[in-house]
Amino acid sequence: MTPRSSRSFYSHEVNASQIVALQVINPIHLKKFSLLKYNAGYWDLERQNMEALKSIIRDIPDFPKKGIVFKDITPLLSDPISFQKVIDALKARYKDEKIDQVVGVEARGFIFASALAYALGSGFVMIRKPGKLPYNTYQETYSLEYGEDSVEIHQDAFENGQRIIIVDDVLATGGTLAACVSLVTKNFQVNLVEVGFLIELDF
Ligand code: AMP
Repeated sequence: MTPRSSRSFYSHEVNASQIVALQVINPIHLKKFSLLKYNAGYWDLERQNMEALKSIIRDIPDFPKKGIVFKDITPLLSDPISFQKVIDALKARYKDEKIDQVVGVEARGFIFASALAYALGSGFVMIRKPGKLPYNTYQETYSLEYGEDSVEIHQDAFENGQRIIIVDDVLATGGTLAACVSLVTKNFQVNLVEVGFLIELDF
């Protein structure tokens, strides 16, 4: 079995099985897509491109705390070709999906979601940590190893019936994403077409 390359910040009893919970949360059977899946060895782009992208993502051991292997995407972002390839690959997947809004998860999710929104000609919506959004918000609270955290979205983020995707940089335990999916599906009449990631960590 391939050794685990990374653990989430929230490395508690929640594991990959939580990703299955995403499909339970979303009654329309949520679809998940990752450009790069670590350890399992499948890539969505041509092999050559994916190897190049994978090698430019830097592993930082023991960050932000001991035992975590942090996937540092900053070298990818500062390389014009790699960044463009990632956005082009995401665009290719969603270009015929008539996406109204691309939702980004604070903070690194904003980078990919906003560039993708521009590329698709869609709007961009932010899901943020508590207290950051200035207007009326809906909130979803989720459990961490010790304590809890929350995510927020503006109450006027979507119009009924809009087709949306949620985008983030890394899918680890899926805890954050589960909260984001719940936040959106509980409070809005939207069509969540898919959740998309640059990297999926394999546990
Ligand atoms: P999770 O809720 O465990 O899926 O983690 C979600 C968020 O934490 C993602 O938005 C990532 O940005 C970040 N994250 C978790 N683990 C890592 C990791 N090993 N390297 C980089 N980012 C991570």
